[in-house]
Amino acid sequence: MARIAVGGFHHETNCFVPGVTDYAYFAAHRDRPPLCRDEAIFEWLPGANFGLSRFLELMKDKHELVPTVWTSGGAGAIVSRDAFERIAGELVGTLSRKMPVDAIYLDLHGACVTEDFEDGESELLRRVRASVGPDVPIVVSHDYHANVTPETVQLCDALVGYLTYLHIDRPGTGERAAKALEVILARGMPAGKALRKSPFLIPLTYQCTMVEPSQGIVAASVEDAGGDVVSLAYLAGFPPSDQYWCGPSIVCHAYSQELADRTADALAKKIEALEPAFAVPELEPDAAVQEAMRMAARSRKPVIIADTQDNPGAGGTCDTTGMLAALVRNKAEGASLGILFDADAAKAAHAAGEGAEITLALGGRSGIEGDAPFEGRFKVARLGDGKFLCTGPNLGGRRMDLGPMALLQIGGVTIVTASKRAQAADQEMFRHLGVEPAAQKILVLKSSVHFRAHFQPIAEQVLVALAPGGHISDPRKYPYQKLRPGIRLAPLGPPWRPNR
Ligand SMILES: [Zn+2]
Repeated sequence: MARIAVGGFHHETNCFVPGVTDYAYFAAHRDRPPLCRDEAIFEWLPGANFGLSRFLELMKDKHELVPTVWTSGGAGAIVSRDAFERIAGELVGTLSRKMPVDAIYLDLHGACVTEDFEDGESELLRRVRASVGPDVPIVVSHDYHANVTPETVQLCDALVGYLTYLHIDRPGTGERAAKALEVILARGMPAGKALRKSPFLIPLTYQCTMVEPSQGIVAASVEDAGGDVVSLAYLAGFPPSDQYWCGPSIVCHAYSQELADRTADALAKKIEALEPAFAVPELEPDAAVQEAMRMAARSRKPVIIADTQDNPGAGGTCDTTGMLAALVRNKAEGASLGILFDADAAKAAHAAGEGAEITLALGGRSGIEGDAPFEGRFKVARLGDGKFLCTGPNLGGRRMDLGPMALLQIGGVTIVTASKRAQAADQEMFRHLGVEPAAQKILVLKSSVHFRAHFQPIAEQVLVALAPGGHISDPRKYPYQKLRPGIRLAPLGPPWRPNR
């Protein structure tokens, strides 16, 4: 039986959205547990569909688990100095107080950028390593969108990542972390550590593991792990993080340096050969709505439009109105859009009551270029308190608290409005306001890929639209300053050069 410290710190930083992600945002309960410390980790994490959730279930009877701090700030603007220092300080302080430990498991994201640190994870790992010394194994799990740095690979002893973008295997990732840790406890810390970086960025919509080439790449990473390879991970990267090591990573920890290098090289080569295979068509808002209306006219299943650039899971502000305007302008019928974040509108709807009509300038207030509030007269079709349980493969089991919610109706379009940001990845977000997703003709979802887990099975077709939003889909359009010179900005795209 080993004494294993556990903790977590998730943030997926989009460096191109305004503002900062502050401590209060990490502390609040929205679509994920609030920041929790010590024993509260054992109350919130089990069943919450994170890596640590499953790790706790598997290891609690076999080992003594020592909780520190766990928090997830989702995706958004750069993490404030205050938030990083408070969270990292508390995690490392708690760990120091609870020493000695035999091993550590940290449930991290891998794309955290702070006001001070281009790579928040390696700074956190540096402090953890400094406090426990070189002989305590550290196992890390990462989101599929991690931008892994050489420092992170050196500071940990195994690194596992999600195998799906859908992210429906977060618990499975915790399970792989537990397995890697058991191997290390039995055999000792692996000496071989290798990182390879692909020479091109991959836009999020191209990264989905339900389709090739990502499906095959992830499958290859699973095949090549095992035996003397403690962990092998392919992480597709998060393009909106402006950092030197942004982009896809192949990470291997093995019992010899030669094996780690050989394994990582083999997978890296496979990915480079597949560069021309990455592509997904993207439509302008009007074209997407018109195409969806054509398809919906001859189908009994909804046509889904992914409003990918306002995906809050990638740092979108979740309140842009480009797709809403296109639905209304094209007189779409039986269309529902969600989730639109506008706490003031939800409040006004609750004050007016169900059945009332109100005039609103809805959403569009985050300063996104090309976006504006949508002004109109809306019927308050339904109200909700924003508290419900998700049931889909991605968020199933997670308790939601999205604040007061309202279903607003304008013409043939309904809008699921919430007081907090959340990615439309679960059908319960609509059902909470009485909208049965399968009964709609058109569903517009503020999500890039996660929605596919719960919504694709009910859909006639999925279209991807490019309305203005904080998550620019095409990395060629980001004003990067810190990338490594020469990396291509998309598969087969132009190489990036710093401005001189
Ligand atoms: Zn992710």
